[in-house]
Amino acid sequence: MTITVDSTSVLEATAPFAAFESLESEVRSYCRKFPAVFHRARGAELYSEDGKRFIDFFAGAGTLNYGHNNPFIKRRLLDYLNSDGVVHGLDMYTVAKREFLTAFNKTVLQPRGLDFKVQFCGPTGTDAVEAALKLARKATGRSGVIAFSGAYHGMSRGSLAVTGSRRARRAGGIGGGDVTFVPYEDGPQGPFDSIALIERMLDDPSSGMEIPAAVIVEPMQMEGGVYPASADWLRRLRTLTEQHGILLVVDEIQAGCGRTGTFFCFEHSGVVPDVVTVSKSIGGYGLPLSMSLFRRELDVWEPGEHTGTFRGNQLAFVAATAACELWGDPKFRTDIAVASRRLERFRAELTSVDAGLVVRGRGMALGIDLGRVGGPDRAERLQRYAFDHGVIVERCGRHDEVIKVLPPIAIDIVRLDRGLEVLRDGLLAV
Ligand code: PMP
Repeated sequence: MTITVDSTSVLEATAPFAAFESLESEVRSYCRKFPAVFHRARGAELYSEDGKRFIDFFAGAGTLNYGHNNPFIKRRLLDYLNSDGVVHGLDMYTVAKREFLTAFNKTVLQPRGLDFKVQFCGPTGTDAVEAALKLARKATGRSGVIAFSGAYHGMSRGSLAVTGSRRARRAGGIGGGDVTFVPYEDGPQGPFDSIALIERMLDDPSSGMEIPAAVIVEPMQMEGGVYPASADWLRRLRTLTEQHGILLVVDEIQAGCGRTGTFFCFEHSGVVPDVVTVSKSIGGYGLPLSMSLFRRELDVWEPGEHTGTFRGNQLAFVAATAACELWGDPKFRTDIAVASRRLERFRAELTSVDAGLVVRGRGMALGIDLGRVGGPDRAERLQRYAFDHGVIVERCGRHDEVIKVLPPIAIDIVRLDRGLEVLRDGLLAV
C-alpha cells in the first residue's frame, strides 16, 4: 500500500480512513499530512492502530510539552477521577481550581515577580486572545490594535483580525478593520525596524494612525516560520508602548510553558507585558485550558461580562497543577536543558549538511527554513520522508517552507537523537 498526502490517492488506498473521509468535513488538515489512524501514545511516541511507531516532533502544535500521557500527571488525573472529583464546574469555586491557582502563583508568577490576575477563558487558545483584546479595548477605551506580519493568534473573529495569513483571513471574511499590521523584526523578506516605523506613526499627529489600545506580539513567531524576536526589539517595543499608554499583549500560547528554556518566552528579554495569553501546554496533559493574565490594575471586568460554559476544565486544572510541580524537580529541568543543548548542536550540524539552510529557534523549538534551498516542495518532501521513517514533523512559514521541530520538551535523548537522525538523513535524501 502506498500512502500519499494527496487526498485522492489516500481515498483509494485504504478503508481505515473511510469514516473520516465520508463523514468529516473537508476542513480537516493535519490528518492529510499524517495519514495514519493513531491509537496510543506515550512520552514522545505515537502509535497507529496498525502498530507503527512514530516519534512526535509536533507535540500537538506545542500542547504536549510534557509528552503524551505523562505518567506523573496521569496518576493525578486517575486519582481525581477515582475520587469523583468535579469534572465540570463552570467558573464556580472548586478545589481543583484553587489548587491550580495556588500552584501556578507559587511556581510561575511569584518567582518572576509577576503580580497578575488570572482570567480563565473558553477552552482554547483563541479564546484567551479574544479575551485579552477585549480587555485591552475596555481598559483603554480605544479600539485599534497593532499586530505583526506573520503573526498567528487564532481562528475566531477577533484573533483572526490580528493574524497575518491572507488565506486564513479570507476564509473568516475578515476585512482590515481596526488592526494595523507592521512587519515583525524578521521574516522571509529580511529584518525590518518595525519599532522605528511604529514610533514614527505614533509620534506624528498627522500619520493617520490612531493611538491603539494594544500591540499584540508573539515573542517568537511559530506559525509564521519560527522567528524569535530579539531581546532588544522586545525591549524597544515595551518602552514604546509604555510611552504611549498602549497595552503590550504577549501571546505565549505556543512559545510558552518552558518551550524556549524559560517558562515564558518573553523572559529572555526581561520585559514585563501588560497582558499575557497562555494555553496549549498549560493544560499539562493536552487538556483544554486557556488563560489571559494581566496586571492587577487592568482588571476592569464587571462580574460576568465575559463568560463561557467551558472556562476552566477541572481535569485540566488537576493536570496543570501536577505540571507546575514538575518544574520543582531539578532532574526534570536538567533533562530539558540537556535536550535543548542537543537540539542546539543539531542546528550547528545542519549547516554542514546543506550550507543554504537557515535554521532558527530557541530552546526546544527549531525551524529549518528551506526557503532558499528547495522551498515548500522540498519541505513537503522532507515532511513526507520523515513520516515514512516514523517521525511526525509539521511545516510552517508563509508558504510552508519551514520544517518546525517541536518535540515534547520532556523528550528522552535517545528518541530525540533518533528523530533528528531521520531529519538529517531526510535532508540528504530529498
Ligand atoms: N496563538 C498562537 C501563538 C498559536 O500558536 C495558536 C495556535 N496555533 C493560537 C494562538 C490559537 O490557539 P488555538 O488553536 O488553541 O485556538
